[in-house]
Amino acid sequence: MKGLMQNAPLMISSLLQTGADVFGGSEVVSVVAGEGVVRHTYRDINQRAKQLAQALGDAGIGMTDRVATLAWNDHRHLEIYYGVSGIGAVCHTINPRLFPEQLIYIINHAEDRIIMVDPMFLPLIEKIIDNCPKLEKIVVLCTAENLPDTVLDAVVYEDFIGAFDGEMEWPEFDENAASSLCYTSGTTGNPKGALYSHRSTVLHALMAGTPAVTGTLTGETMMPVVPMFHVNAWGQPYYAPLVGAKLVLPGPKLDGESLYNLIQAESVSNTAGVPTIWLNLLKHTREVGGNLDSLRNVIIGGSAAPGAMIREFEDDYQTNVIHAWGMTEMSPLGSAGVLAPHLMHSTSAEEQFEMKQKQGHRVFGVDMRIVNDDEEPQPHDGTTRGHLVVRGPWIISSYYNNHDANDKAFTKEGWFYTGDIATLDENNILQLVDRSKDVIKSGGEWISSIDLENEAVGIPGVVEAAVIGVAHDKWGERPVLILVPQDSDNPPSEDSVRDFLGTRIAKWWVPDLIAFKDEIPHGATGKILKAELREEFRDALAGATD
Ligand code: AMP
Repeated sequence: MKGLMQNAPLMISSLLQTGADVFGGSEVVSVVAGEGVVRHTYRDINQRAKQLAQALGDAGIGMTDRVATLAWNDHRHLEIYYGVSGIGAVCHTINPRLFPEQLIYIINHAEDRIIMVDPMFLPLIEKIIDNCPKLEKIVVLCTAENLPDTVLDAVVYEDFIGAFDGEMEWPEFDENAASSLCYTSGTTGNPKGALYSHRSTVLHALMAGTPAVTGTLTGETMMPVVPMFHVNAWGQPYYAPLVGAKLVLPGPKLDGESLYNLIQAESVSNTAGVPTIWLNLLKHTREVGGNLDSLRNVIIGGSAAPGAMIREFEDDYQTNVIHAWGMTEMSPLGSAGVLAPHLMHSTSAEEQFEMKQKQGHRVFGVDMRIVNDDEEPQPHDGTTRGHLVVRGPWIISSYYNNHDANDKAFTKEGWFYTGDIATLDENNILQLVDRSKDVIKSGGEWISSIDLENEAVGIPGVVEAAVIGVAHDKWGERPVLILVPQDSDNPPSEDSVRDFLGTRIAKWWVPDLIAFKDEIPHGATGKILKAELREEFRDALAGATD
């Protein structure tokens, strides 16, 4: 017997429409290059997104057509999220930090028909446009007076939407229709596309906007620092209107001082981003002797949150850290570190700190397993390591038009291979050991580069750390530690680094080589480019015997 409930499709547009109807007065505050701080309400954004929808329809864009963005986090990007998906077209967010060849590949692979770009990215488009034959229109995200000189035949966004009145109802269609597209910025090979649907996005938003996952409460002031071109800014632009959160979109300046000032000025209470961003925020806050009084929760993900960072947020600024894990292929959220009440009540502060360094519990909607090389499930005992595989309604069932990538991406039973090595404990708390390609295999045993990095950033005078496996004649691979010192004229001594690590990790994990660099290379999403470091240090241990 079937239930007797209506089968209304889950539409992305309904998230913003609800924001406009129920929390219409809540603000969307944007920092826009050349325009300063711009304020709207959800009511305004819904109206403007509808104007955009009408303009796109007038330009011949309809169901399944791809509309690309090359833009920072601001209100126009938010309108594009809703205006494009709202009419059944596909919002393809592109990372502007990609190399021109990768941009060309992605735009052509997605067959984007329109691209909407921040003025500062026009030179980039000028460089690649001749190689993107399917692109029909360039819309520049600015007002007419802010349009820079360009050789391109470009339309100004405010003129594009200004010709329409926004008088329309959002259409309803199949909730499984494609809504948005994001390519993984792999460090090797061509990027691969994750194609989200209305259903997957709405379900993800319903899960992500809960206190048990992101600590979100109604009346929150939410600031996604994670870019809107990277996995939908972890879903915040979709769940903020649902809970009536004031949304603060920080624009292009993501340095410590700019973020600090914005947090103070707008009383930001919940924010999300990668560890590198928070290193800079904490450094600035420390330097000015400031506070983070308004900030209740900081969501840290994308790479492991170092213990020292968790302590500083929590002990020095009383900001709760939620350590989360996810992937482009997972919309992105898979786990989040809001401690279950029974664990809060039965553990000491130190035990809770240990748990917070792990990647949190699986969230509703995501099934997780760790499996061995033969795809056999391994116990959830907190120690057995294996390949982390996942399944659920906001996890890809296939890469977009990429059969080669699909071949290796799924188990025989259809679980998605995350490429991460992990443990799960009896409370289903996930701990990442490493990316399968980053784990160091020394004498047949695994050394976790993540664990080593987490300890190394706690060394006094160290700002950032990276650990890579380097070929070694005797052991196969040995760890090499690369440190960025706070003061490059006065780095910590190698002996002090070894002494520090020696008391915290197994002796055989202590790196064979410690190198200092002024900067560690980062990829387009802020992650350390280990492939570059591996190349640079490839022969560093050549001839070493022990
Ligand atoms: P992306 O698709 O670019 O977001 O990258 C996803 C990958 O980032 C994951 O498979 C992990 O390897 C890594 N990652 C994400 N969150 C974390 C975290 N909290 N700790 C460690 N690694 C993470």
